[in-house]
Amino acid sequence: MKSKNNRSIIQELNMKSRDDVVKFLKSLWNETPMPCPLCNGELVFLHKKAKKSNGDWKCEECGHIYRTINILMELPET
Ligand SMILES: [Zn+2]
Repeated sequence: MKSKNNRSIIQELNMKSRDDVVKFLKSLWNETPMPCPLCNGELVFLHKKAKKSNGDWKCEECGHIYRTINILMELPET
């Protein structure tokens, strides 16, 4: 483990591997969102009216906000 973070984005998203996170991100970008990894709730666009963006999503159940850019940046390289 070269990371000093004691809690990675992978763990934060309740996932097992980097691949799982990538798969999740791709589902958001493809606008076919997987269920919320934290509660299995449905994800919807964060900005319903504003210019459509498939980068920001929100869980309707638990209210968690997923910003794909932030997740991507926190993701380890390998
Ligand atoms: Zn949720």
